[in-house]
Amino acid sequence: MKVIVIGCTHSGTFAIMNTKALYKDAEVTVYERNNNISFLSCGIALDVAKVIPDPKKLFYSSPQALAELGVNTKMEHDVQSVDFASKTIKVKDLKTKEVFEDSYDKLIITLGSWPIVPKFEGGDLKNILLCKNYNHAQEIIKDAKGSKNIVVIGAGYIGVELAEAFEMLGKKTVLVDAEPRIMNKYLDKTYTDIAEDAFRKHGVKIATGEKVSKFEGKNGKVTTVVTDKGKYKADLVVLCIGFRPNTDLVKGQIDMLPNGAIIIDEYMQTSQEDVFAAGDCCVVSYNPAGDKRYIPLATNAVRMGTLVAKNLVKPTMKYMGTQGTSGIKIYKHNIASTGLTEQMAKATTNFDVASVTITDNDRPEFMPSYQKVTITLVYDKTSRKVLGGQIISDKDLTQYMNTLSVVIQNNMTVEELAMVDFFFQPHYNKPYNLLNAVAAAAL
Ligand SMILES: Cc1cc2nc3c(=O)[nH]c(=O)nc-3n(C[C@H](O)[C@H](O)[C@H](O)COP(=O)(O)OP(=O)(O)OC[C@H]3O[C@@H](n4cnc5c(N)ncnc54)[C@H](O)[C@@H]3O)c2cc1C
Repeated sequence: MKVIVIGCTHSGTFAIMNTKALYKDAEVTVYERNNNISFLSCGIALDVAKVIPDPKKLFYSSPQALAELGVNTKMEHDVQSVDFASKTIKVKDLKTKEVFEDSYDKLIITLGSWPIVPKFEGGDLKNILLCKNYNHAQEIIKDAKGSKNIVVIGAGYIGVELAEAFEMLGKKTVLVDAEPRIMNKYLDKTYTDIAEDAFRKHGVKIATGEKVSKFEGKNGKVTTVVTDKGKYKADLVVLCIGFRPNTDLVKGQIDMLPNGAIIIDEYMQTSQEDVFAAGDCCVVSYNPAGDKRYIPLATNAVRMGTLVAKNLVKPTMKYMGTQGTSGIKIYKHNIASTGLTEQMAKATTNFDVASVTITDNDRPEFMPSYQKVTITLVYDKTSRKVLGGQIISDKDLTQYMNTLSVVIQNNMTVEELAMVDFFFQPHYNKPYNLLNAVAAAAL
C-alpha cells in the first residue's frame, strides 16, 4: 500500500506514526513544505515570554524520527497539484526547484490552516507579522527585542497569550479587536471582564470594539496602527485575526464548506475515494449544537490524524466529534471552557438557552486554605441538555471542563449532572462537587 501524506504538523505526524504502527509494510511518503515538523505553536507565547527553558522541546517528533520509522520524509517539498482521477500528485522540491510526480493508493490530506490576513492599507510594511509556525515564532522573538511599542490585532486566545507575553517582556502593549470583548467566542462576559481587568492592571491597553483601518510607516517599517477610534504607536504588529483552512490545493475537486474546510465523514474520508483528511483543513462535528463547524485545535488534529490511520483500509473507528474544549492562563487566572457559551448558543442555535453561574470556594472553609472559583453551566431549558460551561479560579481547576466535555458528549441533562457520582475528599473539593452544585442551581 502506497500512502502519501501532504503536510506534517500535528494531524500529519499522528497519521504517519499510527499508519506505520498499524501497517508495517505500507510505503509512506510525507511531503512537507516547511523545514520542521510537529511544532507546538501553543508554546510560541511561552517562548516569547521566556517561560520555556528549552524551545527545542516544542517539537515532539522530527524528520529524522520519521525516517527511522521507515517513512520517506520529504522536507521543503511543496505539493502543487493533486489529480484524484489518476491518483497522482505534482511536487516541487523547494531546494533544487525540481518538479516531479508521485502516485498513491491512499492519500492523506493534512494541509492545516493559515492566518487570515485582511487587505489593509500599509499591510506590506515591515514588522507586521503572523503567528502560526516555528519560523513566525523566530521572527516575532527577534523583532520584539528591538521594539518598545507592540500592537496585537485579534483578541482570540492566540492574541491574548501574545499580549500577555509582550507585557511580561516590558513592552508597551495594545490588544485590538473589532469585537466588544476579548475571547468573545470562547467565554461569556463574566469571564472576559476578569481577564480584561487583569490586562488593564498590568498596563495592557484593551482596544476592543475598534476596527483597524490602516497601518502607517516610515522607511518601509510600521510605526502606527490606525483604527476607527484611535491611533497606536507600533514598532511591531502581530496579526492574530483567525485562521482559514489551507485548502486551495484541492479547491473545486473535493467537497468543502464555503470557507474551504474539507467535509469528511465520521471515518475521516473525503468525497474522493481513498482520500482522507484530518486536522485544521477539515470541518468537525460540533456536538453541543449538533452541527458542523470550523474549530481549528491541536486536540482535534491529533485525534483526527490517529483516526485516519485506523480507518485507512476499512471504516473501523468513528470520530466522536468535539466540544471545542479549551483552556487558557491569563496572569494568575486559570480559565477553561467547553461547548457553547451563553452568547454563542443564543447567536448560533435555536435552543431555549439559559445559564447559571455560581461562585464558591473550591474546598471546605475548615481547611487551612481554599480558593475562590466561579463556574457557569449553559443548558437548554426545554431538553434540559447541558450545552456548555466555563470556569475561572486562581487555582487550576480547569479539569472540571474536561469532565463537563464528557457530559456534553454523552448528551446528559442538568438533572443527571446534578446527581451524578463524584468523589469528595476535603483536600480536593466539597461534598457537593462543583459540577453537581452548578447543575443543582439550574434545577
Ligand atoms: C499560536 C498558536 C497557539 C495555539 N495553541 C493551541 C492550544 O493551546 N491548544 C490547541 O488545541 N490548539 C492550539 N493551536 C492550534 C493548533 O496549533 C492547530 O490546531 C494545529 O497546528 C493543527 O494541526 P494540523 O497538522 O492539522 O495543521 P497545521 O498545523 O496547519 O499544519 C499543516 C502543515 O501542512 C503543511 N503544508 C500546507 N500546504 C502544503 C503543501 N501544499 N505542500 C506541503 N506541505 C504543506 C504546512 O507547512 C504545515 O506544516 C494553536 C495555534 C497557534 C497558531
